[in-house]
Amino acid sequence: MIAKYRTIPMEILIYEAITRRLPDHHPRKPEFLSKLNRWKAGYKGEKEVDYYLSLFPDDDLTIFQYLRLPHHNGHFQIDTLIVSAWFIAVIESKNLAGTIELDPELDQLLQNSEGVEKAYSNPILQAEIQSSHLAKLLLKHQLPLPPIEVFVTISNPQTIIKNPAHNKEVTHRLCRAARIPFKISTLKAKQNKEKLTKKDIKKVTRLLLKLHEPFIPDPKSLDNPQDLITGVQCPHCSVFRMERIHGTWLCKNCGKTSRDAHKAAVKDYFLLYGPVLTNIQLRKFLHINSEDTVTRILHSMDLLITGTTKNRTYSPPKDFFS
Ligand SMILES: [Zn+2]
Repeated sequence: MIAKYRTIPMEILIYEAITRRLPDHHPRKPEFLSKLNRWKAGYKGEKEVDYYLSLFPDDDLTIFQYLRLPHHNGHFQIDTLIVSAWFIAVIESKNLAGTIELDPELDQLLQNSEGVEKAYSNPILQAEIQSSHLAKLLLKHQLPLPPIEVFVTISNPQTIIKNPAHNKEVTHRLCRAARIPFKISTLKAKQNKEKLTKKDIKKVTRLLLKLHEPFIPDPKSLDNPQDLITGVQCPHCSVFRMERIHGTWLCKNCGKTSRDAHKAAVKDYFLLYGPVLTNIQLRKFLHINSEDTVTRILHSMDLLITGTTKNRTYSPPKDFFS
């Protein structure tokens, strides 16, 4: 069963909003497009694992698609976690193109793509660190601890994986995303003594869901460019030249209309400038002069409202972006 479903990372939504609102010839546009593509590749890699696991539904497995759990003063993140009566599996997903070679002795993952060589930290070690944090967390909450296995998946089938030293650790732990269900069923077949009862698994599930804290990026920390295009984007021609006329948006570029083109703009505002919005801020952003019109728009969007009439602010409710 799936205890927690994956949602689109906020970073993707933020970088989409930035690239949407950066003029085409802006000097920083390539930088943000490449950040967006990196996040999209990572997300695609994680979704591959979800897909292959979904082909072999197994009621003995409790799956968490992405967890962000507290550790000391910060957090640690697990791309995919599987909890069963016999073992726990931590899966780290990598979506890298070209040729890759993992050297566990030097703790590096080397990637050669289009003649450019890059080094990354050893993903098996990363997954082991997550697993040790998880073990401490479960022990702290007096839960029994089954063995924890770690795997690293490579999702791009075109990626060439090399293991010239035939390192056993690499052979066992590094695999294609499609291999994951078989790795898990092999693990299951090997175990005989249950370490977690059904009740324990329920407790672990409740705890992890309670402690999971989705990441909400602070727009100030993202070094967003200042010169983003404001206004409402036309859903037909993508130009930011919509004007509000008699309760409808009319595009000054293509002449088409939309009733709710402002919704995407309000979302963009929250993604770009943070989760608090006032009437006057939205008036500036949407290019609307009328306070009443913006009040109507804000009240139509089921936002969280704080404060009295004069200093009222609006915030996105839970699950607003998913
Ligand atoms: Zn248009």
